[in-house]
Amino acid sequence: MIPARIIASKRDHRELTHDEIEFFVRGFSSGRIPDYQMSAMAMAVFLNGMTDAETMSLTHCMLNSGTQLQWPPDGVPRVDKHSTGGVGDKVSLPLAPLLAACGLQVPMLSGRGLGPTGGTLDKLESIDGFRTNLSLSQITSQTQKIGCVITGATTELAPADQKLYALRDVTATVPSIPLITASIMSKKLAESLDALTLDVKFGSGAFMKTREQAAVLAGSLVRTGRNMGVSTTALLTDMNQPLGNMCGNAVEVIEAIDILQGHGPADVRALTLRLAAELLVSSGMSKSLREAESTATKLLVNGTAYEKWQQMLAAQGATSEARPAVARAHDIMAVESGCVRSIDTESIGMEIIAMGGGRKQMGDRIDHSVGVEMLVRIGDRVNRGDVLARIFVPEAPPHMEAIRSAIQLGESTEPRCLIADIITQSPAQENS
Ligand code: URA
Repeated sequence: MIPARIIASKRDHRELTHDEIEFFVRGFSSGRIPDYQMSAMAMAVFLNGMTDAETMSLTHCMLNSGTQLQWPPDGVPRVDKHSTGGVGDKVSLPLAPLLAACGLQVPMLSGRGLGPTGGTLDKLESIDGFRTNLSLSQITSQTQKIGCVITGATTELAPADQKLYALRDVTATVPSIPLITASIMSKKLAESLDALTLDVKFGSGAFMKTREQAAVLAGSLVRTGRNMGVSTTALLTDMNQPLGNMCGNAVEVIEAIDILQGHGPADVRALTLRLAAELLVSSGMSKSLREAESTATKLLVNGTAYEKWQQMLAAQGATSEARPAVARAHDIMAVESGCVRSIDTESIGMEIIAMGGGRKQMGDRIDHSVGVEMLVRIGDRVNRGDVLARIFVPEAPPHMEAIRSAIQLGESTEPRCLIADIITQSPAQENS
């Protein structure tokens, strides 16, 4: 096969065969196909899309570029959740130990911050001593012993994705539904799961700005997971305001601990319980969502999930059980009265990066102690002088105005609904 001919096929809207995709992914992984040809292919896919069959082949080949986690045939369901990322989205932190408390095993491989959205690994690294670079054998043994692990992906799992993602990042080919699908699903399928749920976010603080775009991505992810033998569902959730109150690193760990201790904001708790229920049902541990939510609620309230969290922290090297340190707080007051009409959630994420809570460039050091606490939600009425938000940062003044102007007041507005839809089956798409 000749790489330029395969690129030309995609350029001319022809459907690629499994063999052609396999030849391309293998060649790229081994270095026989250079970056410039893979870049041309990625752009052809970005422009012309892929059918479901092509997306599945691409996912399969990227998955097979590396190894997969091995589990004994003991009948214990292994499950995971993936979020497309949002500001204040700390759900992975309480969800993994909660699922472990429910008797599932969760080998959760997470990532770092991407643009305005925070990364689970960055958040966990605000805990002194916590290790996020476990080896494959540490991942499998901790998962079986405690029931959960949250760590970074190793280079042995879906290495073709790691190489391709780095290329897409610099060739403007990240926002492509088939490429995102193959990238996310190859990493998740490498965990050898029985069930997976996806939290696909839309809105001002999400990667997908509209609900329609998020629905197309969710459909592609669900079809690919199911076609590859993993029970897969997706929630479409609103990211037009931060999730919960806390946004940052240490502050999000603190809010996650609140949830694990039976407190914390209602939206984070509701989403955590709903995602847990999805996985309990799709893994066959519960018969209905109602039964599953009641089981999960009990284990959250009675402290079993919090015990799992403590065991996970100890196993991954945490040297203190104390809540991580947070920088000095500064209140941001409303300068007029009104109703919270909109929150520019992306700006809040970008301001956290500007305060040092995220990376401006690869390799930047993060200040885990900075963050934002949101004290209002869309639809709330506020009076002049009320506290809208609080920022945790040593030097407040440059950031206060940016956060205040991200919160727009106006006429009365309805509160937003967090879970907009649930995707369990999705009709096939010819080209996406
Ligand atoms: N996250 C991923 O893991 N891959 C993508 O392509 C986009 C977001």
